[in-house]
Amino acid sequence: MKRVCVNCGSSPGFNHVYAEAARKLGRTLAGQCLELVYGGAEVGLMGEVANAILQAGGTAIGVIPQFLVDKVSHRGLSRLHIVSTMHERKQMMLDLSDAFVALPGGFGTLEEVAELLTWAQLGFHKKPVGLMNVSGYFDPFLSFLNRAVTEGFIKQEHRDMLFVSEDPEDLLKRFGSYAAPKVEKWIGVGKG
Ligand code: AMP
Repeated sequence: MKRVCVNCGSSPGFNHVYAEAARKLGRTLAGQCLELVYGGAEVGLMGEVANAILQAGGTAIGVIPQFLVDKVSHRGLSRLHIVSTMHERKQMMLDLSDAFVALPGGFGTLEEVAELLTWAQLGFHKKPVGLMNVSGYFDPFLSFLNRAVTEGFIKQEHRDMLFVSEDPEDLLKRFGSYAAPKVEKWIGVGKG
């Protein structure tokens, strides 16, 4: 594992625990000589994780669409890739990274996590995905995923792809044991 992609809020959240967790993740990545790949913004938790890894002597690589460059881009990154669209951005973040960690965030963060899991269950990639569950922020989302399993929309094996921990070191350690599930995506349609 060389590079970890972090998906997280472009807002900081109202509680200081979120920014503290983002900084802890940045320092942890630097301490393990892992490079950060992220959305290239200076704002919110995105800026916190990038500044923390840079201050600790690590590498931060941003991938940002042109239309966001003037609005929110971080000017002090190790590298900044400017792409045309949000879709191109996510594809590049996937290609550059060996694993994914999400911190608290809003629609953008949820969308990125859901897409990574969607692509994983279709076998487009075999890279681990984890949530840093700061102060139980993701508990309702995890309950929803469990409901989707019991209601027959997500297979247990696919739900279990998602690593969850409050501690970044624990998450990164557990990524080492990840084996992509071999089951088909579909439930109850004669294909699973
Ligand atoms: P959100 O959680 O809605 O704040 O969205 C943040 C996530 O979506 C990040 O991981 C980014 O890759 C992407 N994103 C969405 N909106 C923005 C924005 N205004 N600036 C930078 N990245 C954004």
